[in-house]
Amino acid sequence: MSTNLIATGLAAASDTSVVEVGRQLVNRSGSILRDSLFAGGAPALVVADDRTWAAAGRAVHESLAAAGIQVLDPLIFPGHPVLYAALDNADLVRAHLASTGALGVAVGSGTINDLVKLASGQLGRPYAVLGTAASMDGYAGFGAPMSSQGVKVTMPCPAPAVVLFDLDVAAAAPPTMVGSGYGDLSAKIPAGADWILSDAVGINPIDPLAWKLVQSGVSDALSQPAALAAGEPDAYEGLVNGLVLSGLAMQVYRGTTPASGAEHYFSHLWELDHLGADWDPPLSHGHKVAIGTLAMAAFYERFLLRDIATLDIDAAIARWAPWGQVEADIRRTFTGALADHAVKETRAKFVDGAGLRDRLHTFVAHWDTLRPRITAQLVPAKTLQEMLRAAGAPSTPEDIGLTVDDVRATFPKAMYYRSRYTVLDLSREAGWFDELVDEVFAPGGVWS
Ligand SMILES: [Zn+2]
Repeated sequence: MSTNLIATGLAAASDTSVVEVGRQLVNRSGSILRDSLFAGGAPALVVADDRTWAAAGRAVHESLAAAGIQVLDPLIFPGHPVLYAALDNADLVRAHLASTGALGVAVGSGTINDLVKLASGQLGRPYAVLGTAASMDGYAGFGAPMSSQGVKVTMPCPAPAVVLFDLDVAAAAPPTMVGSGYGDLSAKIPAGADWILSDAVGINPIDPLAWKLVQSGVSDALSQPAALAAGEPDAYEGLVNGLVLSGLAMQVYRGTTPASGAEHYFSHLWELDHLGADWDPPLSHGHKVAIGTLAMAAFYERFLLRDIATLDIDAAIARWAPWGQVEADIRRTFTGALADHAVKETRAKFVDGAGLRDRLHTFVAHWDTLRPRITAQLVPAKTLQEMLRAAGAPSTPEDIGLTVDDVRATFPKAMYYRSRYTVLDLSREAGWFDELVDEVFAPGGVWS
């Protein structure tokens, strides 16, 4: 099924034209790339780090040469300490590509791909990536998150023209990496529920193709956590396809809505706090997302125990705080520049009493059809916690160096952090937000 979905995604994707996922694929990588990226006769530059060169880079380099492609000396970064997605590293890649006229072949996971993606985008050249770990869903995505002078920015640049994945290489990657990819893909569960809610009130209409690409394969992809942790190559096919499809969905949609909801805001906020940045290796995106996902799955579970259809809308409007009070609360919740950011983002989704009446009325009127869709979208929080644990992903706040109270304190921040409408907003509008957060952390919950 995922092969058909990938073909569907490729037909609609603007940047990526070839995706190949399979066993022992590195040995065929040269001929696949000769017939796609290098059909015009350009030379090839393999970019890797010490570890990914050993895992697959050398084999790709040799396969390219055997396929008759002119292969330049590879650009190999040190594997330790872990390579950063910093602009000066991207400049180095760009200088190599610019001076040789080569097209880049990134062999690695997140950072190597981002560096070659940005450098190639700046030169207006296509590139290919061979992913070495099932660690995140950005392989087939556009844009490259980069740090420059301590600030993280996403630089605009096209997605790869060719995405290759060798399942044997992915299965042999360090076990924490698959836990990260598993966490990032599990996010599609609550993220999908958030998209349903925001679609219902017309804020972020669902794009049927992007929805199908990102959601159809999720349960399949998450169905074998123990086999993934054990490094069984065949178990990686579903997860790798799910991660690639998520990137294609973002490419088709031209945005991140298909792949992320409030659970990602927990991760972004912890990242801004440099959580685990000094770990070796640094705490990954997907590991933070795993805990955000579990927090949101638990929140949704409590939310669905209530019935919006019976909500007293007049009482909710009577309780509704005017913008000035909301802004004051945001400024109490955040410090520094983040407060200004959150004020701007929250203002974009804030409505006055009349707007709130419309919004809540829509939920009340359509709850009969929305509730079963959201219920079907979710997985019980304790089940999800077991799945994450079995995959070797974090399943408790302590696993990522946080306390239960830290996660609790992140809920209001996640609500205010972005203009995207999520269940956290609906809960605040219904007057339930604080109670539901309390319930997530009450005895019997995932972390009590
Ligand atoms: Zn993610």
